[in-house]
Amino acid sequence: MHIKNKFFVNGEWVTPHATATIDVFNPATDEALGVIPDADAADVNRAVVAARDAQAAWSATLPAVRADFIERICAGLKARTEELTDLIAADIGMPRKMGRRMQVGLPIQILEVCARHAREFSFEERVGNSLVLREPVGVAACITPWNYPLFQIATKLGPALATGCAVVWKPSEVAPLAAFVLADIIQEAGLPPGVFNLITGYGPTAGEALVTHPDVNLISMTGSTRAGARIGALAAERMKRVTLELGGKSAAVVLDDADLEAAVRATVNSCFLNSGQTCLALTRLIVPEARYAEAAKIATEVAARFTVGDPMGDTAKLGPLVSTAQRDLVVGLIRQGIEVGAELLCGGPDRPQGLERGCYVQPTIFGRVAPDSVIAQEEIFGPVLCIITCRDEEEAIAIANGTAYGLSGAVWSSDVARAQKVARRLQTGQVEINGGAFNIEAPFGGYKQSGLGREMGRYGIEEFLQYKSLQLPA
Ligand code: NAD
Repeated sequence: MHIKNKFFVNGEWVTPHATATIDVFNPATDEALGVIPDADAADVNRAVVAARDAQAAWSATLPAVRADFIERICAGLKARTEELTDLIAADIGMPRKMGRRMQVGLPIQILEVCARHAREFSFEERVGNSLVLREPVGVAACITPWNYPLFQIATKLGPALATGCAVVWKPSEVAPLAAFVLADIIQEAGLPPGVFNLITGYGPTAGEALVTHPDVNLISMTGSTRAGARIGALAAERMKRVTLELGGKSAAVVLDDADLEAAVRATVNSCFLNSGQTCLALTRLIVPEARYAEAAKIATEVAARFTVGDPMGDTAKLGPLVSTAQRDLVVGLIRQGIEVGAELLCGGPDRPQGLERGCYVQPTIFGRVAPDSVIAQEEIFGPVLCIITCRDEEEAIAIANGTAYGLSGAVWSSDVARAQKVARRLQTGQVEINGGAFNIEAPFGGYKQSGLGREMGRYGIEEFLQYKSLQLPA
């Protein structure tokens, strides 16, 4: 059991003012995994005041000094990779093999990129008679979800530290354990007291106390569109800077001349990554009607290779969903898909064979899904792929653009110029062309209900900066 009874505030582990706690569960076994404190407004205030008091001195440090701190944090993360891999596998259920690279390796790379940017970024420039400065926005409230606990804080902490913003982090109450290890690493890295603070608690209480605190200048949140809209409204009323990375219902558009085998394989792999609990998962596969039967066959063959099982073992490709609540939600949507008459190609609402406990769901594929049905419109956040057929390229684009979201997407064609033309017409923040790889230097974020602002690379750094013009005399 991981019993956590302290917050990290002002450079030390402190006893919370609140006495309430939150239980943390292992989704593979349904057993208790840990306990964390549930912050009240006094705890939030203490953390924000610590950040506010550290802000001025931190923003005055040289960028190269801040880069050194980020690199020390990376070294600490590297040294504790195995421990973090196990902890995250137990906390959210992503199999260890995949988790080591995606849940620990990738966050380290993102922080390393931020350290480099801190050294190279141009924080001021001359424009005519003006000296234009790029200054840190100030105290940053970072609020993250449970599906990639370290990745999501790396995309906020890296830019905050690189630009000179002090941080208060509230990780997800569902999967908070890695956050305590990161705080330990940051303490060992010797970051000045107050520059990084960690509290845990529920969104509507601790989260809102943080978002509405008068000394918070910037809010960077990743999570659901529902919570993002609420946070955005609270921020707007108080004129706070806000970045929101929210949900998605991303489409892979397969054109008639595409390599179908490669396109379908890549889409199923994307959809089922982390049991479908990935914001940029490609969850809609749009194929020409004439190629549907072939696409359905390939997709079910690929799905059959997704062995479901214990995330701590070496054989499972698919672990459990993060919680019973998430499992119930996903199973409910699978039932709904069957009720409205989508073809169930594989999977379904029943437990995977041999897994009598844990939050497991079968990898599920629906065929001939109506583009306006609930399962084709709502983010399911489980291993559920919807195959949708189209008459032609125009209809494929209309279907791809026909949801409230716009986070990611893909286009497949043997003619790359044609694929790019289609990609330019998709209302979404990023598009993979013929399986083009995720790039941590490229801007990441959403169109429409998928969010506001961008993360990653220098685009992520810019979210934490504001301009000041000094008009100089002739
Ligand atoms: P969630 O919105 O329930 O919670 C996310 C975080 O926000 C948690 O820390 C939560 O405590 C906090 N929160 C919730 N309500 C709040 C409020 N009113 N005020 C302040 N804080 C509040 O999301 P989740 O269930 O943890 O994560 C899943 C969602 O996250 C999915 O919709 C997924 O698509 C999205 N997501 C988006 C991205 C992206 O980069 N676009 C990445 C990962 C996940």
